[in-house]
Amino acid sequence: MDGYKGGWIEIIAGGMFSGKSEELIRRLRRAVIARQRVQVFKPIIDQRFASEDIVSRDDRRLKAIPVATSAELRARVEIGVQVVGIDEVQFFDDGVVDVCMQLADAGIRVIAAGLDQDYMRRPFGPMPALLAVAEEVSKMHAVCVRCRGAAHYSQRVAGGNAQVEVGDSSYEARCRSCYELYTATPESEPAVQLTMPQSA
Ligand SMILES: [Zn+2]
Repeated sequence: MDGYKGGWIEIIAGGMFSGKSEELIRRLRRAVIARQRVQVFKPIIDQRFASEDIVSRDDRRLKAIPVATSAELRARVEIGVQVVGIDEVQFFDDGVVDVCMQLADAGIRVIAAGLDQDYMRRPFGPMPALLAVAEEVSKMHAVCVRCRGAAHYSQRVAGGNAQVEVGDSSYEARCRSCYELYTATPESEPAVQLTMPQSA
């Protein structure tokens, strides 16, 4: 087709433990095998995770470049790159939507994986807009730890009430029937004892 440049956006969305990152790696590995030039990015959400993690252990040694903002991601895309992978895309600022559009308009295949909802089942960060503009969306499901059904939610089971609670042990995959509203327990809140008046 005349003028076809090959750029588009595909989103891999779902809850925790649904295999989003594995699916991202699988698609990126296939691009590498096809000798396409690939770059992978991830947001810096915690300095402990700021190292360049190897996300694919094949000969080309794909590494995820940690970036602080969507503008930094855009600036670090190298000339000639054909595929851009983004992991944990839900943690980026809203500008990541425009960045993905610019890259796709320029002929780049953008593959981004992220949590579609937070632990309160609220749409997460830029994900709603990304799902809207993407050519292709894959909704991944985990296995519900209670009933073994298809799990769509990241059930928080420990920690506070912040939107971001880093650590897999604070979550379980749950289906719609088994999902429960989480409220932080006293031991996960600051150690301040309040004496409440007893109602009669
Ligand atoms: Zn269930």
